[in-house]
Amino acid sequence: MTIDLRSDTVTKPTPGMLEAMYSAAVGDDVFGEDPSINALEAKAAAMFNQEAGLFCPSGTMTNQIAINVQTNPGEEVICEQYAHLYRYEGGGASANSGCSIRLIKGDRGMIDPAAIPGEINPADDHFPITRLVAVENTSNKGGGSCYRLADLKAIGQTCQEKGLNYHLDGARVFNALVKTGTDPGEMGRLFTSISICLSKGLGAPVGSLLLGSKALIKRGHRRRKLMGGGMRQAGYLAAAGSYALDHHIERLAEDHQRAKTIGDTLAGLPFVDHVMPVETNIIVFGLTDRFTTDEFLGRLESHGIKAVAFGPQLIRLVTHLDFTDDMLTETIDVLKKI
Ligand SMILES: *Cc1c(COP(=O)(O)O)cnc(C)c1O
Repeated sequence: MTIDLRSDTVTKPTPGMLEAMYSAAVGDDVFGEDPSINALEAKAAAMFNQEAGLFCPSGTMTNQIAINVQTNPGEEVICEQYAHLYRYEGGGASANSGCSIRLIKGDRGMIDPAAIPGEINPADDHFPITRLVAVENTSNKGGGSCYRLADLKAIGQTCQEKGLNYHLDGARVFNALVKTGTDPGEMGRLFTSISICLSKGLGAPVGSLLLGSKALIKRGHRRRKLMGGGMRQAGYLAAAGSYALDHHIERLAEDHQRAKTIGDTLAGLPFVDHVMPVETNIIVFGLTDRFTTDEFLGRLESHGIKAVAFGPQLIRLVTHLDFTDDMLTETIDVLKKI
């Protein structure tokens, strides 16, 4: 048995999802004629209380379009130091949109609302114009941490008062919604743009959506074309995404439970220095000097378990749709005897 805990992106479509893909009605989406894509965009937008949606090949593209259509070159984006759109998107904010980034040091990837006002530049020609605040929920590098809704509201309040755009990088927002029992519409209405991912926890093979006002999505549509992201009969992929929204959200609670069990086990093992709080489906833990990161990953691999290094002496494990209870039992056994 191979157990892949490297990411929640490693899942394969389920038989039900494949059936939905096989029977999808499709058309040329560059002409706006793919009914499965149009339906998915409308469905996701309605869910999050936004006017419109844009189906894109990746979460990196939805984040980058969101930045591009809500800033001008020379302006500044505020985000947390762990933010995916700062760390893991190849410098896209500067390359695609000519923006600088203002980093805030938060708690496990989450920004303290009280920290925002002090990071907004005054109206003085020396400074970049602060234009956008981006939050990530859940935070990947923060170990799957979830914002409290009250904090997201407080940040939104500041953005409104200061005339700033407010983006949610929600690659794993469904994990946050399930964990905190929050209605997507209630969270969604706070933002001027939202990026959601269908191929992480939800198990679709490809796809992310950008959500926002009709005007924002219209500009995003043009930008997607410019970036080479206009797809044709991609309704086969959109059908997988719609199926995922219908069938794979509630079950994320199982991923969270399994992650918690692994986290609790790790906390009692001699080679573990610390385990970050496990709130959702991500487990990040530190190794003592008993193993180097490579040695530890090698030992796991020799027992058929894949994981990734997440920094010096840090390991990340991610539970997902294809990680079963049998695999959980096996994982716990291996960790205990390593
Ligand atoms: C994975 C991820 C992305 C980017 O998604 P891709 O589809 O891999 O480009 C963006 N933000 C966060 C928080 C992610 O975890």
